[in-house]
Amino acid sequence: MESQMWQANQASQFPDNMPGVQQTTCCIVGGGPAGAFLGLLLARQGIPVTILEAQEDFERDFRADTIHPGVLKLMHDLGLIEQLHQFQHSKMYSLVVETADGPVTFWDFRRLKTRYPYIMVVPQSRFLELLTSEARRYPNFRLVMGAKVYELVQEDGAIRGVRYRTGDTSHEVRALLTIAADGRSSRVCRLAGLEPVKLTKPLEILWFHLPHRSEDTEEDGFSLRFKPGHLIIYFDRYEYWQVGFHIPHGTYRELRGAGLEALRQSIAEAAPRFADRLDTLQDWHQLSLLSVQSAYLDRWYLPGLLAIGDAAHVMTPVGAVGVNMAIQDAVVAANVLSKPLQAGQVSLEHLSAVQRQRERATKIVQRWQKMSQRQTVDGALDRTKPLRLPTHVRVMFRLPILRNMPARLVGFGIWPARMESHLLTPSVPTEPLEEQAGRPV
Ligand SMILES: Cc1cc2nc3c(=O)[nH]c(=O)nc-3n(C[C@H](O)[C@H](O)[C@H](O)COP(=O)(O)OP(=O)(O)OC[C@H]3O[C@@H](n4cnc5c(N)ncnc54)[C@H](O)[C@@H]3O)c2cc1C
Repeated sequence: MESQMWQANQASQFPDNMPGVQQTTCCIVGGGPAGAFLGLLLARQGIPVTILEAQEDFERDFRADTIHPGVLKLMHDLGLIEQLHQFQHSKMYSLVVETADGPVTFWDFRRLKTRYPYIMVVPQSRFLELLTSEARRYPNFRLVMGAKVYELVQEDGAIRGVRYRTGDTSHEVRALLTIAADGRSSRVCRLAGLEPVKLTKPLEILWFHLPHRSEDTEEDGFSLRFKPGHLIIYFDRYEYWQVGFHIPHGTYRELRGAGLEALRQSIAEAAPRFADRLDTLQDWHQLSLLSVQSAYLDRWYLPGLLAIGDAAHVMTPVGAVGVNMAIQDAVVAANVLSKPLQAGQVSLEHLSAVQRQRERATKIVQRWQKMSQRQTVDGALDRTKPLRLPTHVRVMFRLPILRNMPARLVGFGIWPARMESHLLTPSVPTEPLEEQAGRPV
């Protein structure tokens, strides 16, 4: 049993008089789904918590806009479901893929017993703003935008916080516990010497905007299209379309060599609905090449540090499950850690309990993503063969007893995390709005 314990009240840990040094109990690096959700859950328990987010705002292109039934249930439990639905959004109930053997329903949430049988498609910036503005109602919560973490504070063999920059100014935050929620290629994990193990070959996607037109309908909010040789995904961000165009690994140079017109034609084949606006793609600078490789940490923690979300296990876009997984890590971390944080004493045993409760579920989902990447994504991108699913997969989608498995896995994950009862009710009163207005961010 790992019992090393460190406490909040050691004088050397929190030097009150050091200029520019801020103190908190939990410092979360990264205000993505994992960090923002954990920040809110801890803030509700009266725990001093600071989130450091590198971006100046949440309007970031490389964000996933899907909120799955499992997360909708958590939002319901937090009393935020109605506010969430007030944002402009669309709902995706099922995923049907055209294969050489006819259409195959990969999943249909309407077959599950759940109050919210759909993926809600809403710009992730709105979702993160909702979580953090709710957290800001607690006086013990702090969010610093534009805060780029570049160094760890290490003392006596434990991580005691981080150093970050806003513009040219350096700052230090000291904390009883630091959370690495800074996503794939986590800087915090790298600085701590936690190296990920790679699981798949990279999935390469061209990511770009296309203009929104007044005639575009709401039902089209999110779509995934397979055509021989192509796989395209798009989200309605209402002011523009966010598009991801998958390309076979290692073909980007060849694609650039063939020129923009050839690319525009390929995109039009994959998604004819956009053919009328592809002339807006005039320069390669309008397209970002994203390379996503599934990976995981063997160990998610060190004294004073815990990694969650993509920082602990990078999820690829396959099945659009990464946000769900990241938020479930946050829920388990809050279940396990809120009382030790309130008491000012966290042990390695607490941190290893978070990994123990989440690791198997994330590994199973990552292996499912790997298998799907091989069978579906690679299959779709191979122009030489029509997209065919292996017989056992086709049989599985037809058998009533098995056909709901993908919906459960995608919608809720394996062993879905639930908030323990002590997290359901805030333990501190919220601050009146006028006081929040004067509080620095
Ligand atoms: C192209 C693409 C499409 C995807 N599509 C989907 C999808 O449709 N649905 C889905 O569920 N999942 C999707 N995923 C996966 C999903 O995006 C991730 O699994 C999920 O975002 C993980 O959440 P997170 O909070 O752990 O990390 P992130 O969402 O990556 O958040 C990390 C945050 O940390 C911040 N940060 C990074 N470095 C620092 C630093 N040094 N200092 C301070 N802050 C820092 C970042 O700015 C970011 O806000 C997709 C992934 C990719 C790459």
